[in-house]
Amino acid sequence: MDCIFCAIMNREIPGDIVYEDEKVLAFRDIMKQAPEHVLIIPKRHIESLLEAKEEDAALLGHMLLTAKKLAKELGIAETGFRAVFNTGSDGGQSVMHLHLHLLGGRSLGWPPG
Ligand code: 5GP
Ligand code: ZN
Repeated sequence: MDCIFCAIMNREIPGDIVYEDEKVLAFRDIMKQAPEHVLIIPKRHIESLLEAKEEDAALLGHMLLTAKKLAKELGIAETGFRAVFNTGSDGGQSVMHLHLHLLGGRSLGWPPG
């Protein structure tokens, strides 16, 4: 399987890794859309939120709590941030390994484009 995020996780290609534990990896987005833009991925390859199952509930919760923890560490918790799962083609998903975007450090527009 050819997956760029698995390759970052396995240190086959470089990534600006900001956090890692037994369940997740977090690294800076290569084309950042905000002063802080981090991607949080599960270490187990899951294609998208659509493929997540009931037994992944704890993992999904852990990803969200990791976003909160990193928002604090990166200094964007006070000013606010966004955590989002782009899913499928209309959702704008371009990499088919589940990832939670954490964006902050500027005022983010709503609705998204
Ligand atoms: P999506 O479009 O699937 O929601 O988000 C995928 C994100 O992965 C994009 O924001 C894109 O910039 C980022 N990305 C794609 N390839 C790489 C890469 O090789 N390294 C890193 N760090 N980010 C990547
Ligand atoms: Zn993968």
